[in-house]
Amino acid sequence: MTHLGLVEAGGTKFVLGIADGDGTIVARHRIATTEPEETLGACLDWFGAHGHGYAAIGLASFGPLNLDRTDPGWGRVIRTTKQGWGGADLVGPFARKFECPVGLETDVNGAALAEARWGAGRGHNSLLYLTIGTGVGGGFVSDGRLLQGLTHPEMGHIPLPRHRTDLAFAGNCSFHGDCLEGLVAGPAVIARWGANLSELPDRHPGKDMVAWYVGAAIVAFRAILAPARIVLGGGVMDTPGMVERIVAKVRERAGGYFAGDAAEIIVRPALGSDSGLLGALAVARAVLDRSQ
Ligand code: ZN
Repeated sequence: MTHLGLVEAGGTKFVLGIADGDGTIVARHRIATTEPEETLGACLDWFGAHGHGYAAIGLASFGPLNLDRTDPGWGRVIRTTKQGWGGADLVGPFARKFECPVGLETDVNGAALAEARWGAGRGHNSLLYLTIGTGVGGGFVSDGRLLQGLTHPEMGHIPLPRHRTDLAFAGNCSFHGDCLEGLVAGPAVIARWGANLSELPDRHPGKDMVAWYVGAAIVAFRAILAPARIVLGGGVMDTPGMVERIVAKVRERAGGYFAGDAAEIIVRPALGSDSGLLGALAVARAVLDRSQ
């Protein structure tokens, strides 16, 4: 039993994969996200149909998640806005059917682990992965381990100073209004300017404003975590030129204080379209290492 089961659980689709003992992904499949029972049932069927026993299964999932292993609710989705998924048990069905260790992390933590092991963080002792898309999240890996407290970090929800030309916008995080996510995630961009960031002209002030906010957040994260690499993923960061703009804002605000060159530290993801499944692979490997 050397195969690993991989699940990238998203709000619109579940991407499944099977990795062999070398970590090569030898099969993959997609399932639309509907209700928990139907979606997870389809996952179990697909993994079962391949006839492997599994050494471990790794899930990298949308959240928030209960990751407290001492809590009876461990492995469940909590207070999500995704219909029907609040309280859904992601781990139990896999553990019962395949009787193997099952690991669960947020999708952003999975991506952080994968980038640290095989991507932009190779050869460095620490990595911060930030995703800026429909939401904002962050995961931090130090010496191969994820930072975790009561649960996973919620880096998208930090308070920020306000840009002087943006004071009329209340922000659209349903919990905090103008936290980082409420100011720079895709829905906040559309709420202000009626289009995705990548659709705005190059000189549109929105691009500079988003870079200003992300730059302020990165300065805070550098002060607290001192990451050797900061990887910027997510749909909003696919906008050409954003990394360069953000590096410039970080330099302005950091005042030359922090170790390292911002242009070397702040990078795009190195892993391609498999990054989600590689995140699940990293989670599966981690739970296998812990169980042996
Ligand atoms: Zn928030």
